[in-house]
Amino acid sequence: MKIPQWCRWSGDTDTDIGLGVDSRRLGLANCFLIIVALTSLVYAVINFFHFGAVLLAAVELGFFLIIVLALVDMRINRNVERSAWVTVLACGGLATFFYWYVKADVSAAVWTVFFAILNFFLLGTRKGLPVYLVYFAVILSMTLNYRNEWPALASGVALTNILGAMMAFGAAAYYQERSREAAHIRIEALANQDSLTGISNRRHFLQCFERVRQALCPLGGQYSLVLIDIDNFKTINDTHGHAVGDEVIIAVSQRLLSAVRAQDLVARLGGEEFCVLLHDCGGSAAWRRAEGLRRVVGAEPVAVESRSVLVTISVGVADGDPRTRGFNEMFADADRHLYAAKARGRDQVVGQFST
Ligand code: GH3
Ligand code: MG
Ligand code: MG
Repeated sequence: MKIPQWCRWSGDTDTDIGLGVDSRRLGLANCFLIIVALTSLVYAVINFFHFGAVLLAAVELGFFLIIVLALVDMRINRNVERSAWVTVLACGGLATFFYWYVKADVSAAVWTVFFAILNFFLLGTRKGLPVYLVYFAVILSMTLNYRNEWPALASGVALTNILGAMMAFGAAAYYQERSREAAHIRIEALANQDSLTGISNRRHFLQCFERVRQALCPLGGQYSLVLIDIDNFKTINDTHGHAVGDEVIIAVSQRLLSAVRAQDLVARLGGEEFCVLLHDCGGSAAWRRAEGLRRVVGAEPVAVESRSVLVTISVGVADGDPRTRGFNEMFADADRHLYAAKARGRDQVVGQFST
């Protein structure tokens, strides 16, 4: 299925289909940052005043300040990606420092192991894996380096437990996140795909339309909406049967896909109606592109089983400035033009720039 780059389905941003993983990532980042900020502050105070551990207190205070800044940034900008990175790096940094400072004492080992879950959930598997490998390498090198000096490691039991637990938790968190990502990609495809043709459905088209509009607004470009309806489709159904009608719809969708540019988007609105979003294209150029689509679809009959079905389409085109014209205005215009194309005898394109 041909999906323009700007509208690719990704396994990461699922706010689109309302799964809310982005908001859960923000929620977890928020929760962790607050927990780490509070514990850093409390430990900084205790370590400074009670234990006189100046270095530890200073580092903890530093982390406290970084995390408070990150929390403020997250509240103001709601940038999921940045918040996720700050949380992972702050928690990973603090856990690593703590591990070194308390000489791999069991309390530090707990946080070291727990980091795996936080890392993979917030960064995903693609970005989380290299981070976790670096983190593991740092802990491993410290552990091997000090295995005879640090009492917690000297017995050998703690040493194997810490490294074993890090690998086990890392693998579990990695595969847990991977399966979530795979399920998400599948759900997103089902939510955005038309089940008969495999191309985008109406809801995906509307989302992409808004995305393109937002992207084009500052650039000042134009965009166009092309509405397509197969001519006399009822007759095709009545003559050849519903199953052949379905094959004709699939063939038309493939021909449309083959005829658009990589940056354009083709969707099935429903029934035998399609629409195409022409990215950064308006005026007579949009009309010519629509005319090209009409020609490609009608160029040769659709061969289904032993039948040969001649298919034509009527097309309505609307173009506009994204800053002033949204989907509803464009759709109303394109629909009016499509009606005109039908009224004028079908198998033609009507738009503001019809020749
Ligand atoms: P016009 O040229 O005016 O568009 O005539 P038309 O016969 O195409 O008229 P209309 O658009 O009203 O007909 C659409 C028909 O498409 C009606 C419906 O039975 C049929 N249809 C809708 N969805 C499907 C589908 O998924 N598969 C098949 N085979 N037929 C469908
Ligand atoms: Mg129709
Ligand atoms: Mg029709």
